[in-house]
Amino acid sequence: MYRAPSLENLEIGSKSSASERHQLILMAKKGTLPKELEKSLPAHVREHAAIKGDKGAKLVLHGSPSKVFYGIGALKDLTPQDAAEYAEALGHALNAEQLGEVHVTFPAELKDRDIISNFLKGLLLANWKFDELKTKQDNGKKSELRKVSFAGGASAEITKADVANLSSIATGIAFARELIELPGSTATPEEFCARVTKAIDPKLVSIEIWDEKRIRKEGMGLLGAVSQGSVIPPRFLIVRTGKDMAGKKPALYLVGKGVTFDTGGINLKTGIPFRDLKGMKGDMAGAAAVVGAALALTQTKPGLPVVAVAPLTQNSIGSRAILPGDVFKSYAGKTVEIENTDAEGRLILADAVHFAVQEKAHWIVDVATLTGACVVALGKHFTGLFSNHNEFTEEVLLAAEASGEPAWPMPSTSRYKDELKSSVADLSNMGKGRDGGASLGACFIEHFVGTTPWVHLDIAGSADLGGPAAAVHSTHAAGRMVHTLVTLAHRLGDQHRGNKK
Ligand SMILES: [Zn+2]
Repeated sequence: MYRAPSLENLEIGSKSSASERHQLILMAKKGTLPKELEKSLPAHVREHAAIKGDKGAKLVLHGSPSKVFYGIGALKDLTPQDAAEYAEALGHALNAEQLGEVHVTFPAELKDRDIISNFLKGLLLANWKFDELKTKQDNGKKSELRKVSFAGGASAEITKADVANLSSIATGIAFARELIELPGSTATPEEFCARVTKAIDPKLVSIEIWDEKRIRKEGMGLLGAVSQGSVIPPRFLIVRTGKDMAGKKPALYLVGKGVTFDTGGINLKTGIPFRDLKGMKGDMAGAAAVVGAALALTQTKPGLPVVAVAPLTQNSIGSRAILPGDVFKSYAGKTVEIENTDAEGRLILADAVHFAVQEKAHWIVDVATLTGACVVALGKHFTGLFSNHNEFTEEVLLAAEASGEPAWPMPSTSRYKDELKSSVADLSNMGKGRDGGASLGACFIEHFVGTTPWVHLDIAGSADLGGPAAAVHSTHAAGRMVHTLVTLAHRLGDQHRGNKK
């Protein structure tokens, strides 16, 4: 089983303050100090920015126990995303101070459960590090958060089950981060599948892995095409959660882009600084998100079948690599002219979403580091959301916001769809110019989803850690969308149960 980094020690918040623990007091702008502290702090300390609630300001008063004050800014401006990112940075600071057992006091005025949950998630993830490729691993339990209790604000509403769910989600995120950080030559499609098989309890899921022969036999011509430039063979991974619900309806399909390294192919990557090219090992962050979510969902049990699907391949330069202008037949039967070999994510996703359509998915969400254009549009702070269905869009937006991973709706209309014409095949994998690239990428995939409610999440920018969390890790992977997909599955599961009653 996958060992999550020290995530199991989160204790349920007792209402009374755990007096033997170090105290972490979160201060909102214009908030009030807890009464017992009011008197004990000298006047000049009370003027400190952390006590005034300035966002990100920190004051550590050493002692036994120590007191840490941390400013979280004005509550009306605080989002779940902020809470997760500031908590992750703060957790690092606590680790550096070796304050392994802390009691958190949330401001009395803080009534938003999503903010509190995301804060706790951030603390859990502060323990995450990627050191499996170093000869000396830091197993230093001393410098990890071990016990966290909490009280104050709406935290009394956070149940034991909520904490268990958060812990599963953090484990899923940690697993996704690990897959993303592994180098391209290490985490090949085969190794990716091997790690998933090892991480997820086989009693809880059914895992199917198609090898190259099967992929070709089934007719996944686009996945086959992208993989042909590499000596490393592709895989098509299917993880069915909720074994007891096999074949039950409605099913949610999560499809993740799994390009284990993207060289760009023969059209080459242009406009990317050579130092940044190594980041292309993370072009499977979508696949990592869906298997990370599957791992979490085996524990949290959403009450509907969820199937995670990942087309996995390298996109290499080689003597057998796709030539620009080559035409291949997709799994769905449509022919595609590949004008841009670096627009490979949409190709493998086209075959993967068609798989979901064939299996009569009720909903499809695909997650992909798809376009540089989306990074230009939204930076790291938002995930680009494209869809063919308004109600489903609303569901995913709400799930993403509550999970501290906000998404922003972007257009995918026939105006873009019509741009993907080829003079020699049914479709081209690129538009005529570079304008509207994120929408064109989405619309290519949309050609293959038919009428199934579908959302495409472009995480090309948001796959990287953002905000203060980005400053404290030496690695970049955020494990983005694991939390959102888990939240979404539960929302849909709850609604489905509600409808049946
Ligand atoms: Zn590419």
